[in-house]
Amino acid sequence: MQNQTLQNTVSYVCAKCGAKEEIPEDVLEYFDEINPEMLFFGSHQFTCEKCGTGIMKPEKESEIIIKGYGLYDGLERS
Ligand SMILES: [Zn+2]
Repeated sequence: MQNQTLQNTVSYVCAKCGAKEEIPEDVLEYFDEINPEMLFFGSHQFTCEKCGTGIMKPEKESEIIIKGYGLYDGLERS
């Protein structure tokens, strides 16, 4: 059993040390707004706070990427 919060989060995992962190979708949407060009490279990545050098990536990418492409589709055609 995992704790379920009302807020949607995305599970991020560090490629180096394997640390996991739940990133709220609110935070990811905020990054979309301030740094939209990141969407070309897929989901946002964070530096791992635990080991300090590892890159944290989402465990499952699809949702965010689809959302990102949708955003860009709109921007490029307008
Ligand atoms: Zn790490």
